[in-house]
Amino acid sequence: MFNKKRHYLVLLTFILILTLLTGCFLLEDDTDLSIHIIDVGQGDSIFIRTPNGKTMLIDAGEPSAGKTVVSYLNRHYIDKIDILIGTHPHADHIGGLAEVINNFEIGKIYMPRKIHTSKTYEKLLETIRDNGLKITEAKSDITVELDEDIYLYFLNPLRDFGDDLNLWSVVLKMEYKDTSFLFTGDLESPVELELLEKYDPDFLKSDFLKVGHHGSNTSTSQEFLDNVQPIVAVISSKTGNSYGHPHKEVIDRLTKMNINVYRTDKQGNIVIRSDGEMIWSNQEPYHSN
Ligand SMILES: [Zn+2]
Repeated sequence: MFNKKRHYLVLLTFILILTLLTGCFLLEDDTDLSIHIIDVGQGDSIFIRTPNGKTMLIDAGEPSAGKTVVSYLNRHYIDKIDILIGTHPHADHIGGLAEVINNFEIGKIYMPRKIHTSKTYEKLLETIRDNGLKITEAKSDITVELDEDIYLYFLNPLRDFGDDLNLWSVVLKMEYKDTSFLFTGDLESPVELELLEKYDPDFLKSDFLKVGHHGSNTSTSQEFLDNVQPIVAVISSKTGNSYGHPHKEVIDRLTKMNINVYRTDKQGNIVIRSDGEMIWSNQEPYHSN
């Protein structure tokens, strides 16, 4: 009996060590800042994890993409989202947020002060309320320290944009030591120009650009690119979408500037990493020179 018990203990210890080892291999290199552009089809969803394990999620695609985002986060052993951002009230950005809120512990929720009458938007507000959470207004000039050495600067909404929902898009600049990242939601060119007027060119310059509005030619103007000068750009869209995103003009503008372009419609999930000095990806860009 005793012997049997001992065997059992040895086996249990062996299983425990194996589990720990496998866990170590499965966990990614946690010492980097990682930016995950999750493939949610036509829509946006960007997950960010800092070296100390702080987390941020910008958008979660259409309502049907909510499950995709939840399972992606589960695969990465995430249980809390410290900062959740709904860039603007269109369903391809906020649709999956309710599913995320129902499945994870949520810290702070930022959304622009622009209401919408769609069922998806109303369901999101209801879910936020049901979970005892509240919305903090996202607007320009807010600064948040996401983690040690990692700062978030809200650049937009700059003002009231009336009923043009895309223009209300939260534009977020993230800085980690010498590296910088710009997330633009569905922002369109007229407001890109307003950002150029308001902010110092050196401040807008970013190593990484989440290309505005799924690569639509109504965004990512040459003036804006000349100022941001990204090294890496990522476009989130779906193959064969009815809008023809990403538009050829935008791809041409990016590739002419030797920017490495990644696309979720061609490559699925994209992960970009930073150690505070440089940014890289283990994947090859889809367009590069
Ligand atoms: Zn969109």
